[in-house]
Amino acid sequence: MRKRDIPELIQRLDQMFPNAQCELVHHSPFTLLVATMLSAQTTDEMVNRVTKDLFQSYDQPEQYAAMSQEELEKHIRRIGLFRSKAKHIIAMSKILLEEYHGEVPQTREELVKLPGVGRKTANVVISNAFHVPAIAVDTHVDRVSKRLGLSKWKDSVLEVEKNLMKLIPQEEWTQTHHRLIFLGRYQCKAQNPQCADCQLLDLCREGLKRMKNADLVENT
Ligand code: SF4
Repeated sequence: MRKRDIPELIQRLDQMFPNAQCELVHHSPFTLLVATMLSAQTTDEMVNRVTKDLFQSYDQPEQYAAMSQEELEKHIRRIGLFRSKAKHIIAMSKILLEEYHGEVPQTREELVKLPGVGRKTANVVISNAFHVPAIAVDTHVDRVSKRLGLSKWKDSVLEVEKNLMKLIPQEEWTQTHHRLIFLGRYQCKAQNPQCADCQLLDLCREGLKRMKNADLVENT
């Protein structure tokens, strides 16, 4: 995609997904951090099903720090990688109590030092809980960025994030991040992107290629 097409892309994403937002249900920075840690390699929908009950009884770091790993595992066992996630959430809660007065730190640098917290999780937390502009690159953002030509296919997740930060104005980072996730979730799906009725088709190299290939198949 050409750099001069970026404002048009942002505008169309805005029209396509005006209400795009974080779909992980939470009511505090701490519950957002726990939900995001649980969401690795699992759908937000599954996380929300589990946290609906979990957060009614447990929504403070003190409560998680006092839990045994087995106890937390019982609550989250429907989620993939539940054993390591339980271990990390308990360890993370203990550090919040010991080093941060029970509060979630507000910088990426501090967050990524917590057990089980990577750059993507940190970006989700700082942007949604503390309104710090950030772009969290999950599987959807990675895929649609490459299909749209905002990044190269061989780029790492970090390179995708840096490319997006260069191309998109900072004040648009957080909202564009949500919209790219919605694009990947509802339009530009991994297996079956809906290119024919995508409002981004004329801007999208991959979409145009797919439509051309589909035409060739139809005409042979
Ligand atoms: Fe994805 Fe196709 Fe839309 Fe491009 S045109 S963003 S590949 S759905």
